[in-house]
Amino acid sequence: MVSYLSIVIPIYNEEANITNLWARLSKVLKENWPGQEKTWEVVFTDDGSRDRSLDMLLAIAAEEPRVTVVEFNRNYGQHSAIFGAFAVVRGEVVVTMDADLQNPPEEIPKLVAKIEEGFDVVGGWRQGRTHNDSFFRTMPSKIVNAVTRRTTGVRLHDYGCMLRAYRREVVDAMLLCKERSSFIPALANSFAKRIAEVPVGHAERAAGDSKYGLWKLINLQFDLLTSFSLLPLQMLSVLGVIISLLGIGFGVFLMAYRFLHPEGSVGGVFTLFAVLFFFVGAQFLAFGLLGEYIGRIYQEVRDRPRYVVKKHHRSEPGKS
Ligand code: UDP
Ligand code: MG
Repeated sequence: MVSYLSIVIPIYNEEANITNLWARLSKVLKENWPGQEKTWEVVFTDDGSRDRSLDMLLAIAAEEPRVTVVEFNRNYGQHSAIFGAFAVVRGEVVVTMDADLQNPPEEIPKLVAKIEEGFDVVGGWRQGRTHNDSFFRTMPSKIVNAVTRRTTGVRLHDYGCMLRAYRREVVDAMLLCKERSSFIPALANSFAKRIAEVPVGHAERAAGDSKYGLWKLINLQFDLLTSFSLLPLQMLSVLGVIISLLGIGFGVFLMAYRFLHPEGSVGGVFTLFAVLFFFVGAQFLAFGLLGEYIGRIYQEVRDRPRYVVKKHHRSEPGKS
């Protein structure tokens, strides 16, 4: 039996969801882990919200000593927000979830039960996703999932689902990782021996808009690709070799063609253009990829903090 459970929720402009979220979440927690003693805690990170989110969270924390609020000084992104909460969680099992009620809090006991079976990480696998999210939100996720499967080597169905449970040791190991561009589900899997997935429900965002635009998603994808493998860099050289071989072959072909049909060799100019464009494109792709790695190296070298906490709002120990 898990004796101390921590729930981690990143919050960015979620004023429309917080009341509902807390009502459903606290009901689940109080029913499944009853008693006033320390059996569970909830850590909200306010990721620089500009609406009333922070005030609402503080109001909840004022009433419920088992709630902690980590206040960031500005917006650092979902994954940094989760790290900010990881740094203060005290539970032996840690569950992350989104605030927008896309992840039903009612599924938490299911994840915890799976951890109790001996798994280190348990991921939610969203069911019926296509109906609830727009095509433009699910399609990039499908690509993210496919690439993550390839690059990390762990075959999960759904990397994007943030309703996940981790054992304390895995969270501690993640906290040791100082790199900035980390994608938590993939990072966790690199520290876990036994990984499981359980099907979870998936609802439409209850209120407000998705905080992920196309650009944030593209960025996340590059983070994933570059922080978990050198494969793209290695592919570049392989691709280079293949392209040069093709180029040589094509040259030989053109020469032979000229000898065999001396009268018909003028049209080749256009073919050359086509080939040139292809090579130029391939080079830009290669440079771009190199740039992605170098940019990230630059950020690591600067070694700035991943986030800055303005204040930890938590009740005094002993009071709870
Ligand atoms: N979030 C955050 N900081 C950000 C963006 C998002 O803390 O910069 C939180 C957000 O409040 C929510 C969760 O991360 O609790 C997931 O965000 P969202 O629902 O917008 O993402 P989607 O469901 O579209 O992937
Ligand atoms: Mg969402």
